Formats: sequence, C-alpha cells, structure tokens
Amino acid sequence: MTQKIALVTGAARGIGLATAKLFLREGWKVAMVDRDQAELEQVAVGLEGTKAFTCDVSVPKAVDQLFKDVLEHFGQIDALVNNAGVADFGPIEDTDFSRWRTVMETNLDGVFLMTQAATPALKETKGAVVNIASISGLRASTLRVAYGTSKAAVIHLTKQHAAELGEYGIRANCVCPGPVRTKLAMAVHSPEIIAAYHDAIPLNRYGSEAEIGEVIVFLCSEKASYVTGQIIASDGGFESTGVGLP
Ligand code: NAD
Repeated sequence: MTQKIALVTGAARGIGLATAKLFLREGWKVAMVDRDQAELEQVAVGLEGTKAFTCDVSVPKAVDQLFKDVLEHFGQIDALVNNAGVADFGPIEDTDFSRWRTVMETNLDGVFLMTQAATPALKETKGAVVNIASISGLRASTLRVAYGTSKAAVIHLTKQHAAELGEYGIRANCVCPGPVRTKLAMAVHSPEIIAAYHDAIPLNRYGSEAEIGEVIVFLCSEKASYVTGQIIASDGGFESTGVGLP
C-alpha cells in the first residue's frame, strides 16, 4: 500500500500536534504546518515521518509556496486538516474591526485558501478535508461575536467543500471540539467560563487533544469512505444539552 500523506495546519502544539502524532501511529507521514517556526521545528525534529513547513495560512502567496514545497517533498497529499486557529473573546462593543479581521483571517480565510490550494492534489488522491470549527460555531453565546461567527462560517464552508468536491471523490467533514486545555483556550477561558463548561457538559470535564485528534484521523481514513459533508461535535455532549454559557 502506498504511504499516505496528511497535511496538518496549526501542528506546532495543541490539537494539531496531537493529530499529527495520531496520523504517525496509523502509518501516515505528516506535513506539519504552522506560522510559529521555532515551536514547530522543535516538536517536528523528534517525530520521524514528519517534515515542518512554516506558513501563515492566511497569506495567499505563502499558501501557494507551501503547496509547491509540500508536493516537492512528499509528492502527494491524501488529507488536509485545517486546524490552525486563533481565539479572541470579547463583547461586541469591544471587538474593533482589527480584532474581527484577525480572527477571520486565520479561522476563515485560511481554511478557504488552504482548501482551494490543496484541491488539485486532493483530486489526484481522492483525498479528504477535515476542517476544525468549534461548538462556538454551532450555537451563539456571549463574548464570541468574532470567534463564533468565524467557526459558523467554517461549518458552512465545509458543506460547500463537500458539495463541490464530491464529484472528484474528495470528502470534506468538520469537527467541532468542545473545550480542551490548550494555549488557545486557556487564554480566553475565564474561571467563570471554565466552571460553566464543567456544569454544562454531560461528561463534566474538558476533552483532551487526542480525543479530538482521533475523530479527525477517523474522518480522513478509509473507515469513513462514505462520510462527507458532516459536522461532528467532539464535546462531551455539550451541544446536545441546550445549557447556556457566559
Ligand atoms: P493552539 O493555540 O494550541 O494551537 C493553534 C496553532 O495554530 C498554534 O501552533 C498557532 O501557532 C497556529 N496558528 C495560528 N494561526 C495560524 C496561522 N495564521 N497560520 C499558521 N498557523 C497558525 O490551539 P488549539 O486549541 O489546539 O486549536 C486548534 C483548533 O481547534 C483551532 O482552530 C481552534 O479554534 C479549535 N478549537 C479549540 C478548542 C479548545 O478548547 N482548545 C475548542 C474548539 C475549537
């Protein structure tokens, strides 16, 4: 069997790094992509079967160059995981346009640019796309005007990807994580939010990076060969309960 290649963005830490390790466990090779060159190279150097590529996914020229470099090195791409993301929680009146744009540039523009650039390679392999949104994209709550809206747009973009790319055998799905104690989350989760999540989540705990990564790797695998256009929450049951959050 030919070796499969996954491209994972935001792979320097958190959910992206855990996902890269799970792909390696399953025998894939991984193009690890992040804009934080130092952190990325530090983790990738210890992971056999990976190569680090520094790229800001919100910059069109950088994305074009990334695909040239990845294809030159690996020759093919079987799965694209659009995981790179930023969070900025704040009330509408405090979210000035530059904060709004910063969130949209990575969380939404980045997913559009990366998937557009990956499509020719994914057509060759009949590959898979997994976009990482959030439970914040499934339901509105306070403080998430930019973040929640960017993730809701990613959910719709996933359906567009599935609708348009299905004819080429490309599947596209979306994972909506619940809270995971990563650098991103801990920067925006106040003690009030942390307590509310514990109460609101039926499993009464945060998830782990690997619990999200397992779902991502499954969706990229042959086991999910008839699954496309789906929005799957990995959230301890939060989405199904209807309990609110600050
Ligand atoms: P993290 O901060 O630990 O990792 C995010 C990585 O993305 C970082 O290494 C960062 O350098 C990289 N990145 C950010 N902007 C980038 C850009 N423009 N180009 C390239 N790389 C960039 O965060 P995480 O919690 O692991 O988040 C991963 C994804 O999961 C994000 O899309 C996030 O919105 C989503 N998510 C996280 C949680 C959570 O609670 N942690 C919940 C729901 C959704």
